[in-house]
Amino acid sequence: MSIHLHEPGHEPPGEGIDILFVTGDAYADHPSNGVAVLSRLLDAHGYHIGIIDQPPHESRGSMAALGTPRLCAAVTAGLMDSMVANYTPLKRVREDESTGYPGVRRPDRATIAYTHAVRRDLKGVPVVIGGIEASLRRFAHYDYWQNTVRRSILIDSKADILVYGMGERQMLEMARRLKDGVPLSGIRGTCTKEKKPPEHCISLPPFDEVSSDKKAFMRSFLLQEGGMHPLRSPPLAESYGAWHVVQHPPSVPLCTAEMDALYELPFTRRVTQTPRGRTRAIEGIQFSIIAHRGCFGSCSFCSLAMHQGTVIQSRSQESILREARSFLSHPDFKGIIDDVGGPTANMFGMGCGGPVDAISVPSIIDGSPVTVHIPRRTCGRTCLNPVCPSLRSDHGPYREVLAALRSLPGVRHVFVHSGIRHDLALGDPAFLDDLCAHHVSGQLKIAPEHADPGVLAAMNKPPVGVYHAFRKAYEESSRRAGKKQFIVPYLMVAHPCSTPAAGRMLQRMLRDHDIPVEQVQVFTPTPMTLSTAMYHTGLDRHMRAVYVPYGYGEKKEQKRWALGARKIK
Ligand code: SF4
Repeated sequence: MSIHLHEPGHEPPGEGIDILFVTGDAYADHPSNGVAVLSRLLDAHGYHIGIIDQPPHESRGSMAALGTPRLCAAVTAGLMDSMVANYTPLKRVREDESTGYPGVRRPDRATIAYTHAVRRDLKGVPVVIGGIEASLRRFAHYDYWQNTVRRSILIDSKADILVYGMGERQMLEMARRLKDGVPLSGIRGTCTKEKKPPEHCISLPPFDEVSSDKKAFMRSFLLQEGGMHPLRSPPLAESYGAWHVVQHPPSVPLCTAEMDALYELPFTRRVTQTPRGRTRAIEGIQFSIIAHRGCFGSCSFCSLAMHQGTVIQSRSQESILREARSFLSHPDFKGIIDDVGGPTANMFGMGCGGPVDAISVPSIIDGSPVTVHIPRRTCGRTCLNPVCPSLRSDHGPYREVLAALRSLPGVRHVFVHSGIRHDLALGDPAFLDDLCAHHVSGQLKIAPEHADPGVLAAMNKPPVGVYHAFRKAYEESSRRAGKKQFIVPYLMVAHPCSTPAAGRMLQRMLRDHDIPVEQVQVFTPTPMTLSTAMYHTGLDRHMRAVYVPYGYGEKKEQKRWALGARKIK
């Protein structure tokens, strides 16, 4: 293995490194950590990898601690946008940082800060930026913390290329091209700066327009949203005068064999005790299993479809069982599998039953051709709310894999902690019975989000009645299983369309149904979501004016109403 995590005071590796990762997270050798997944994959392809995590980027030379990489530096802010990591929804400085070393914070706009430091210390080394922050700020975007429209992060960071989405295919292709001295332009799942946009591309409204014209901003977002189909979307180009930010078509989703190979890489599932302490990043998820990727929920405030995509990429049951068996020899394993899921746990094995197209691509395992089937998605609608008749929404494969895991010798409990889509689960009582009997550790997290029909429509979430029906079915299933277990509702206030009347409706619903509320989230406009476009423009996707609670006081008040609902008479 040739993965070197930089530790202060240690010498660079004698054999040098090909690719340097710079990350805003503390490194954890775990499948939930993007840098761990990419570095293990590249290592499996024979590349020498260096990792500098949460560097003191202001110190000159800090980026050269592992020597000069032969191919490139790959920069990421980490698992979340640095502004989301550093500030609360009401823009207060966040006290602690879950994915970092104790007391160590990533800088604001970490991708830009780290890239500038790499340019300072590693002159001439190509810089790739990626991860959630870079991916979702790839075009001009509304920045809530500055309350302004910022340019593409590719322009502001002065990086050479940007990876959007999950980066396995892109990183392997870039490493190969850099090794062979081939230009990096045109790689699926990347954005580059070009003097001239490619032919047959869709031109987004230019930066000057989207930064001053709200309708142009919404129009641009809708074109970006429509530009995420791996086979049918042409390149998108956004003009900055002399330069154009060009998004090449999305990367092709991974097939089952590739997902299996990727998540069976030899992660140690351990964090390193360093002079800066230990990160808590994998506490509670150390023995969690990533069963699939992608989500077709299309919630308006979520950007997953613009990053991981809507195609569900599921692993095989055999591969998941092999991973679970590997836990048995792990010194920390106590017989409890923390989670089996993905962005939405019960979408495992699901997908569009409509027409699909096939494409052959080099596999991330060994470069041999694999065929990937991709839904055509010419339907022009979302898969849920209501559930599309063409959706394959059978929970059978998920129930089978959970049952097989439960029966593994040495496994005492298999929990599901990833979010569950309650409207999907409601359609399958047998799954709900399994879930309640075997896989809930005392409480289940469900996201009804709100009660007001107008707010729920703006969020593209099911009506509140679906939540009440689910809650009833869940309580009955739990009773049948002889279990006293609760639902923790995820609620969001101050989302576009949340008028004071809507806030009161949520309050009344919580009081009338005596629903215990632990936490209420204030909507945070993060880059590249429909809800953020609505927040910034005051328009919905049909260019109709919508109410947006901008005031700090009003947001706090809506939160207080929901939190205190059961106390009102
Ligand atoms: S046809 Fe239905 S299931 Fe398929 S992509 Fe469209 S909405 Fe989703």
